[in-house]
Amino acid sequence: MIDGGNVGEVATFRGTLADVTAQVLVVGSANADLVVTAERRPAGGETVLGGDTETLPGGKGANTAVAAARLGADVALLGAVGDDAHGGLLLDSLKESGVRTEFVRVVSKPTGLAFITVTPDGENSILVSPGANRTLRPEDVTAALPGARVMVASLEIPLATVEHAVTTAAAAGTRTILNLSPVASVPEETLAAVDLLLVNQHEAALLLGKAEDTPVRAPELSGLLDLGPSTAVVTAGARGAVVVEADGLTEVPSPSVDVVDTTGAGDAFAGALATALCDGAALPDAVERAVRVAAFSVTRRGAQPSYPTVAELKVSQH
Ligand code: ATP
Repeated sequence: MIDGGNVGEVATFRGTLADVTAQVLVVGSANADLVVTAERRPAGGETVLGGDTETLPGGKGANTAVAAARLGADVALLGAVGDDAHGGLLLDSLKESGVRTEFVRVVSKPTGLAFITVTPDGENSILVSPGANRTLRPEDVTAALPGARVMVASLEIPLATVEHAVTTAAAAGTRTILNLSPVASVPEETLAAVDLLLVNQHEAALLLGKAEDTPVRAPELSGLLDLGPSTAVVTAGARGAVVVEADGLTEVPSPSVDVVDTTGAGDAFAGALATALCDGAALPDAVERAVRVAAFSVTRRGAQPSYPTVAELKVSQH
């Protein structure tokens, strides 16, 4: 059995109300990323031989929590992994990075897997098998939430759990960040409880009723607030990010960097943003910090392995 939680669909967490003090709570997925390179992706019915498979820790929730922990945040992940080797890999990676794992349940289902095919043009195609992530229940949030100053939730877990996390956190006075990735249809009352909606530019286009690849002009982004959140942040790849507040927009440019691999840049951004807000930074300053962290992350390979510590960030700025 993996050290990290109790096995079983109805296992309880090792954490108790008495010992919960994590300042940042991340509610989200943990997946093992199975990455294989191939000359091209197979068409239906076709077999293509690829390179060796690399198995890397991933999943939006785990990535976000690791990014925050590397920056020194007191962070816990509320998640679920299977009682298998992939679950062990994920728990080890979380612990090595300093993420608290008492709310990562170990269940008798396979750990979530992301099958990632990378072609020479740098394009990824990804098939996710959620496995253990599907077992995260709304009531699981109750034990993990007390004490958290900031709660970040992302998708790839049951929508009902995300909705419950946002509404209960808001009711408890915890600042709520919803990383609506991948985009899902979320009830109005949930969006109204969101302090900060975090999306990339493609997700923003979808939410504004446009096709995913439609370029969205900055002024149009204020339409995101009509959906209910108090503020929004839209990431825009190499261009940085846009802060959307009721009194206007602020564009935060990215430093120009030598790009090696953008995998997990959005999750690095989310973890850094939550950490900065938890530290008391004003939103534009927090976004400025998140842009720097995410820009650093694209200069190294992988998702979690690419995330900087505070010391590495300082060195990179000299
Ligand atoms: P991913 O799916 O790759 O994790 P995403 O689509 O969620 O990312 P992006 O907007 O592409 O989100 O990137 C998030 C942040 O990462 C950007 O706001 C920026 O700070 C940083 N970033 C991404 N690509 C680059 C780049 N080419 N150069 C510098 N910074 C980048």
